[in-house]
Amino acid sequence: MSIDPKLLRTETKIVRKGKASTAQNLSVDICVVGSGAAGTSAALEAAALGRKVALIDGLPSLGGQAVNSIVGTFCGFFSNGDEQRKPYQVTHGIADKMFKELDRAGALHWRQGLTTVVMYDEVALSRWIEEEIRASGMTVLVGAIVRNVVMEGRRVVALELTTRYGEVRIEANGFVDATGDAALAWQAGLPCREAAEGPIYGTQMVVLENIDVEHAPTREEFAERVAAKHEQYGFPRRDGFAFVAPGRGIALVNMTHIETPLDPLRMSKIQLEGKAQVDKVVAFLRAEYPRCFGRSRIRAFGQPGIRQTRWIVGAHQLAVDEVRHGTRFPDAIARCTWPIELHSREAGYIWEPFDPDHMHYVPLRSITAADADNLVAAGRCIDGDAAALSSVRVMGPCMAMGKAAVNALDLAGSGSVHQIDIAALQDRLRDNLFRTD
Ligand SMILES: Cc1cc2nc3c(=O)[nH]c(=O)nc-3n(C[C@H](O)[C@H](O)[C@H](O)COP(=O)(O)OP(=O)(O)OC[C@H]3O[C@@H](n4cnc5c(N)ncnc54)[C@H](O)[C@@H]3O)c2cc1C
Repeated sequence: MSIDPKLLRTETKIVRKGKASTAQNLSVDICVVGSGAAGTSAALEAAALGRKVALIDGLPSLGGQAVNSIVGTFCGFFSNGDEQRKPYQVTHGIADKMFKELDRAGALHWRQGLTTVVMYDEVALSRWIEEEIRASGMTVLVGAIVRNVVMEGRRVVALELTTRYGEVRIEANGFVDATGDAALAWQAGLPCREAAEGPIYGTQMVVLENIDVEHAPTREEFAERVAAKHEQYGFPRRDGFAFVAPGRGIALVNMTHIETPLDPLRMSKIQLEGKAQVDKVVAFLRAEYPRCFGRSRIRAFGQPGIRQTRWIVGAHQLAVDEVRHGTRFPDAIARCTWPIELHSREAGYIWEPFDPDHMHYVPLRSITAADADNLVAAGRCIDGDAAALSSVRVMGPCMAMGKAAVNALDLAGSGSVHQIDIAALQDRLRDNLFRTD
């Protein structure tokens, strides 16, 4: 049977790029760049304040590393616990609804020890974020890289972005740098920090399916075997781990260490090397644990997981001793108890857990760019020394910083985030600072 010719469109037209600028212009109250844990929280909290919001990401999909790198577990949302002390939630805001709805959907698995780690289904998280953002009515721009930041004195006035479909210019009263790499501060020509002594390693995550959960090794036995045999199998990390997700028949494998340089060519090459490292890890798992991993297959690779690259110079650099001592800053805006988790060696990472009654804090001054009045960072690119950052860049404090960033910008209005009423800000953030139920 032939198709009716009237249904076939055969006409074409000639098009050509014009000489005049075709950039689309947009004006909002708050522009958030980066849609990871920090940026998603910032954007949704700003929308809840009734502000006109734009949320931008360089990737074609939302969710940052939580979704696209398949990080796989929520950390830093609860206080430490032991037999006497029950952990309580330290970061609320969008986290309350997220935990409730993902739990109801069977997308969470809770592991409680000294720290509380919540495994999540990354597809369910991705859809939850997308639906929350869609319902909020904010403007979303994905696949958009910040090409230029326009400054007037100490204020950021606009971002110029490139997408595969053309240029976009966004003006806003306040900007949140939730890019993880301090991309806004960097493009604005503001001072930034990088680790002075060698790289902080990232990880190429991988999800394995078709595993036999019944025969999963104990964590202790697994740790000993990785340490003893990693060299034999040719992968560098001696302390990696695999989380087996009950009920899903999958394992989330965090066993590689890759450099994550800011050099585009080197980073692209390392991306391929990270996957070659995964092949060696999978060979180890299949050979050493045939009953659990013998028939496993790679189901998904995440985007390369990046821990720390470049961060802002804030009005205060959070120091590891302030983290260890639990310094309670007068301008505290977020808290957590996550250990120091510094991936500063190729073979392993430094892990320094805290007592059950420990709490450490992030001050407003560590998230506000020192040389700008309306640029606030949130997430893994706030100001700290490398060890301090390693204890506040997990997703709980990232979400808390996102909420704090937009509330600080909202209180500043057309003024400076360095001169806001701290008591008013902390009142808005009271659940994330004081709640213990
Ligand atoms: C391998 C690995 C495992 C981890 N495991 C855990 C864990 O189990 N639990 C936990 O809580 N935390 C974990 N962490 C830490 C945590 O995942 C991250 O630190 C956290 O997700 C960072 O969130 P973020 O919002 O600051 O940044 P990201 O999630 O990195 O989001 C930044 C976003 O900004 C976008 N962006 C960057 N530059 C630009 C630009 N120039 N223009 C436009 N967009 C841009 C990126 O595309 C990205 O989507 C892990 C980290 C890694 C790397």
